[in-house]
Amino acid sequence: MTDNALADLKAALRGELITRADEQAFNAARFRGWNRDLNTRANPLGFVIASGVRDVVTAVNYFRSNNTPITVRGKGSHSPYGMANDAVVIDLMKMTAVRVDPEKKLVFVQAGADGGDVDHETALYDLICITGSVSHTGFAGVALGGGIGHLSRWLGAVVDSIVGYEMVTATGEVIRVNAAKDPELFWGMRGNGASFGIVTEFVLKLRDMPNNGIIRSAPILWGADKAKEVMTPWMDRIARPERKETETLQFAFLHSPDGDPVCGVVPLIVGETEAAAKVTCDEVAAYGGGAVVRQDTQLPYTALQAALDDLFPFDTNYWDKGVFIDWDPSDRKAINCIVDTAVQHWNEKPDFASKLSTFILCMEVNGALGKGDPASTSFAARSGRLWCTAIISWSDDDVSKRAASKKWCDAFVQKLSPFHVTTYLNNAMPESDSEMLGVFPEDTMKRLRALKAKHDPNNVFKTGAWHYEAHV
Ligand SMILES: Cc1cc2nc3c(=O)[nH]c(=O)nc-3n(C[C@H](O)[C@H](O)[C@H](O)COP(=O)(O)OP(=O)(O)OC[C@H]3O[C@@H](n4cnc5c(N)ncnc54)[C@H](O)[C@@H]3O)c2cc1C
Repeated sequence: MTDNALADLKAALRGELITRADEQAFNAARFRGWNRDLNTRANPLGFVIASGVRDVVTAVNYFRSNNTPITVRGKGSHSPYGMANDAVVIDLMKMTAVRVDPEKKLVFVQAGADGGDVDHETALYDLICITGSVSHTGFAGVALGGGIGHLSRWLGAVVDSIVGYEMVTATGEVIRVNAAKDPELFWGMRGNGASFGIVTEFVLKLRDMPNNGIIRSAPILWGADKAKEVMTPWMDRIARPERKETETLQFAFLHSPDGDPVCGVVPLIVGETEAAAKVTCDEVAAYGGGAVVRQDTQLPYTALQAALDDLFPFDTNYWDKGVFIDWDPSDRKAINCIVDTAVQHWNEKPDFASKLSTFILCMEVNGALGKGDPASTSFAARSGRLWCTAIISWSDDDVSKRAASKKWCDAFVQKLSPFHVTTYLNNAMPESDSEMLGVFPEDTMKRLRALKAKHDPNNVFKTGAWHYEAHV
């Protein structure tokens, strides 16, 4: 790219163009992302901070004709793929408007918004759609790969609520994609949505939130030495067939504010009376001979969505890896094996692991998520009872800690592999065709490849997790 050509691009944009030459602005943009370790490793060519759809079109046309690889990110920037080496980042961080149509129960989300932006506006009408469980995660990244939230047992995946997209194609056209206009592309977008263009707006249907948007909850904690006695009955309880989908019970290993290792169950109950919710919480709190902390609470949905935010601060080094598992609830050996694996693995975390942001999370992913019609979306992570993830963070830039963190996370997934049932694209970081086949079944991949050949034959959007496209 010549300086003259860049000057032309700059003049055509209403937003900003930041190149390596402007060191201060460049580094500010580079280190804006959530994971410091990823920011340190990625060295993009520059950033286009788009002011709106027209800037996205201008940038796509410009960089396509210059054969410059493009990546995309929004305000969230939590994944490794929104910023790649020697690619230009089209940054939608300024495009965060969210508009609700309460009559039609629809929300229009500009693609740079994060989950919190969406929850904030929809809550005005006691309406919700699923967003990620940490509100500063980008709405787009979560939604494009499927999208699982705290209440997915009740409402399914984000893609199950999407009714349309506005996107900029590889040829710089602005198109609307929905079930009526292009059913095949609409299917592909709902599960592998970052492959075919740059989404500028999502349209989703909203659901009514009972109890004026209030969730009943009670974070319940025990010392980590009680983990086996707590996790075992919890696993039995979440497998009860009569459970309502409006009840979710999350399990986690974490540290208390004093830095002690603890385990916890967080019941999330929608639409029940206080008395009914208390029965559930009483039962859970009795596990392990009785909890040491229990905080019965009624909180607005927006507060639930932001409850974990401070545990995942920006500008910290992270590594994580997760696996979807299932087991036969009558198989005691399987249950003991999963519990023992989790307890032992938590005890084996590296000494340097930050006490604030190191976890083993076991998130329920059954209920409505599993009942979604597998043929209606390309999202493939619908089976399994639990999404188990090891997340570790560390405070300094010592690269040996990265390697040790990766090893700890990889080992967790490896140990649970006998129970592995499916893989979630947003958590998998696949880098090859064969790994993509671990995420999407062969017949789904065949359709996705055909869509790629039709909508981005020259592989303009080739960087990122979807490396398989390079082979199309
Ligand atoms: C702290 C944390 C909590 C999480 N919690 C959840 C959770 O509860 N549920 C869940 O399902 N997942 C969760 N995830 C995983 C999450 O879904 C992925 O990390 C996701 O990719 C993050 O999206 P982002 O927009 O923040 O990242 P980004 O890096 O900005 O984007 C992610 C990917 O999408 C592409 N992309 C972004 N915007 C666009 C666009 N407009 N058009 C086309 N492509 C685009 C990017 O190029 C990149 O490949 C979590 C991750 C973290 C780090």
